[in-house]
Amino acid sequence: MMEYKNYINGKWVSSKSGKYFENRNPANWDEIIGIFPLSTSDEVDEAVKAAKKAFKYWASIPAPKRGEILRKAAEILMKRKEEISRILTRENGKILKEARGDTQEGIDTAFYAFGEGRRLFSYTTPSELPNKFCLTFRRPVGVFGIITPWNFPIALPSWKIFPALLAGNTVVFKPPVDAPLCAYELVKILEEAGVPEGVINLVFGSGSVVGEAILAHPDIDGIAFTGSSEVGARIAEVAGKTLKKISLELGGKNAQIVMDDANLELALEGAIWGAYATAGQRCTATSRIIVHEKVYDEFLEMFYERAKNLKVGNGLDESVEMGPVINESQLKKIHEYVEIGKKEGAKLILGGERLKGEEYDKGFFYKPTIFTDVSPNSRIAQEEIFGPVVCFFKVKDIDEAIEVLNNTKYGLSSSIYTQDINKAMKAIEKIEAGITYINGPTIGAECHLPFGGVKNTGNGHREGGWTVYDIFTEIKTVYIDYSGKLQKAQIDTWES
Ligand code: NAP
Ligand code: MG
Repeated sequence: MMEYKNYINGKWVSSKSGKYFENRNPANWDEIIGIFPLSTSDEVDEAVKAAKKAFKYWASIPAPKRGEILRKAAEILMKRKEEISRILTRENGKILKEARGDTQEGIDTAFYAFGEGRRLFSYTTPSELPNKFCLTFRRPVGVFGIITPWNFPIALPSWKIFPALLAGNTVVFKPPVDAPLCAYELVKILEEAGVPEGVINLVFGSGSVVGEAILAHPDIDGIAFTGSSEVGARIAEVAGKTLKKISLELGGKNAQIVMDDANLELALEGAIWGAYATAGQRCTATSRIIVHEKVYDEFLEMFYERAKNLKVGNGLDESVEMGPVINESQLKKIHEYVEIGKKEGAKLILGGERLKGEEYDKGFFYKPTIFTDVSPNSRIAQEEIFGPVVCFFKVKDIDEAIEVLNNTKYGLSSSIYTQDINKAMKAIEKIEAGITYINGPTIGAECHLPFGGVKNTGNGHREGGWTVYDIFTEIKTVYIDYSGKLQKAQIDTWES
């Protein structure tokens, strides 16, 4: 069995604890993919020391040159796309088509970072005084702790690590125990691309040990985290004590609105893709569908028929449309929510149970599930289930649709299907979310646009686009006075 190592200060090193965790395939739990170090806080400390030492040198390299290393990483990732996508499906369960998308997002992000190496814009602006020049520029933050979840094992670390490195930071990366092999491959690629020793460090292990050690470490300057709102709040609390720069990308309870004038076939394709891709385990997954009363019965029937016939199975089979959920505890959590929904009085019209049969018994396969008659304030309408479970709501007009959509503590993604420009514009303006799609599903972010949410989905940062560089840089403001005398801002008045 393949035994993997941590990557610290440019070397692959064995677990100090001598303990390992297993990485298994959620479509077939008998299949062990490899074992990975259950690292300790000592290993985090070594990684931070290495990252701190490497920082000065890495930050001194011109950004376009750092970018060229990332371009090389993009090229290697491109060459290995199929192989890595297959690894991704094996350890995460998502179907191959989606795994290829996950890997492609990493490639796109690396190329985007490469380009940003020759921009990394700041601005110049006039001074209030004569013979004085004002400008800003971006400096790296320092050592970044990067903590990611399992649901996008290539895309999410890429969204953070590539811009962090481009901006001149060094990194201590803790990947999820549920998808460590993609993290290993990504760091291998960075090594091969020529990232110098100590600049990227990889420490495998649990959130409670390795994650906590990162949060508390005094020499870590910033934390970039994607995961649940619960862990996000914990990070803000612990890392806030040492005044780290913290970026949190958290949960969602996203909805798609279908108006009476919508192209229903199109809305159906979007809703099915949004709800059941990655078995509903996306932060942007469509977990609520809000339909105008005039088309409610017709649309629900269409959705039910498609959902009922979705082909569920091992994602390596190209004909499969939905894979397993990530592990047994996630399966149990999803099923608990189904029980809660039933107790709350919602009507379960499809699914609500584990798939059974020879091809399913060794994995964590859950049936595509639909609830109707869901009370807007019930738990299944409010809490993130992170599984293939959809709640339907019937509304009388656009105002009620938006009100139902906004009735959540989260605010990540949203969507509306309508042919009416006035309704679309109203939705764009009134929906409380970081992202709104018009005539598209709640999923499908592109790497060069800002990504993130409002309310409990985060703490005000946006990954993606150039906004990600606000996370990974500090702004230096520069005043250059060439008047040859002491000029006092706010006190001296300008006279010709
Ligand atoms: P999670 O339980 O919050 O875990 C995320 C990461 O944090 C894992 O690496 C985990 O380690 C680590 N962690 C756990 N406890 C920690 C602690 N006390 N200190 C430091 N690190 C800790 O989330 P998940 O279940 O893996 O992922 C699903 C969640 O991610 C959902 O809520 C989803 O909405 C959210 N998500 C958000 C976005 C976004 O961009 N907004 C994107 C994707 C997913 P382990 O390896 O031990 O689990
Ligand atoms: Mg977890």
